[in-house]
Amino acid sequence: MEYGFSTRAIRAGQTPDPVTGAVVPPLYLTSTFVQDGVGRMRGDYEYSRAGNPTRTAAATQLAALEQGTCAFITGSGMSAADLALRTALRPGGRVILGQDAYGGTTRLLTQVLESWGIETVITDPCGSQRLEEVLARPVTGGQLVWVETPSNPLLHVCDIAAVAQQAHAHGARVVVDNTFASPYLQNPLALGADVVVHSTTKYLGGHSDLVGGAIVVNDDDLAERLTFLQNAAGYVSSPFDAWLLIRGMKTLSVRMDRHCANAGAVAAFLDQHPRVSRVHYPGLESDPGHDVATRQMRAYGGMVSFHVAGGREESIRVASATKVFLLAESLGGVESLVEHPAAMTHASVEGTASAVDDDLLRLSVGIEDIDDLIADLDRALG
Ligand SMILES: *Cc1c(COP(=O)(O)O)cnc(C)c1O
Repeated sequence: MEYGFSTRAIRAGQTPDPVTGAVVPPLYLTSTFVQDGVGRMRGDYEYSRAGNPTRTAAATQLAALEQGTCAFITGSGMSAADLALRTALRPGGRVILGQDAYGGTTRLLTQVLESWGIETVITDPCGSQRLEEVLARPVTGGQLVWVETPSNPLLHVCDIAAVAQQAHAHGARVVVDNTFASPYLQNPLALGADVVVHSTTKYLGGHSDLVGGAIVVNDDDLAERLTFLQNAAGYVSSPFDAWLLIRGMKTLSVRMDRHCANAGAVAAFLDQHPRVSRVHYPGLESDPGHDVATRQMRAYGGMVSFHVAGGREESIRVASATKVFLLAESLGGVESLVEHPAAMTHASVEGTASAVDDDLLRLSVGIEDIDDLIADLDRALG
């Protein structure tokens, strides 16, 4: 029998300790494992770069949540992106990336992997003519379409199944960075994507106390190559960070339900506020991504962005005036955060096609009491 999401989140990979019966599997803070004789290992583990039981427990849990066969737990979201790219491509390969992709991913491709012979084409990968035209160009080292949905910071929604169909027709693979939605809201592998990448720093960890990343696949050949390269180049998380991740993932569904309910209420409040000129949230019926989001997501997520009437100075004033919403980068933790993308997370892309309006604020809506969140925004908006 296939268990539901929350049961899998709590039980997958979490076998009680066979020696003591501890319900929570132990945290294996060890670099190496004793051998019974030369070449005779006692169990499955020999050295913690190659494998560690706590990391395995986290990987098993996440694979079950993403409906994948195999997951890999890395030291950051960026190392997961790098591992996925180096596994799926060879020199002469190409990546097609949205212009609103996470800035670190754009930087990795254009400032690191470009010199290793990977071409990056930045264009909207979602249902555009341009995607078809780029996919059809000759390529020798493999081709990937990299999708983020909902995107950052404008929460654009991309139809994963449609992009996968289009990419596969050209022999290209699709990677989905599923950080914003989390596996509770969206399972890209089930929609036809080939690889899922996460920054587990965000919703999966959920408590703003770890930096980590992950890859999930359902293809044996990719899994074998990821296993090899993860060990060969050392793309691993510490056992302690894997243990924090396990703890976070167990409550993902209840946290996400509250994140989504709070974000929906915040978006509706902002949408009717006279000092707000526009709100981006796929849960609003007026949002251009609403229909696709309704089809491919369980709910609309915890991220909201909006334009403050009065421009840059006024939006910076509002971001500095909230008390419950803390002024900080990052997202996906239990606490609410506000940031000014043009001056903070997206400052490095100023003057490029990825630049964002300077009256925009981004909220990571936490799981506090909704009345406190709305009162805080109301007071700050003035
Ligand atoms: C934060 C983030 C990353 C990078 O992850 P790190 O854990 O900071 O390395 C990648 N993609 C998205 C969508 C993110 O939000």
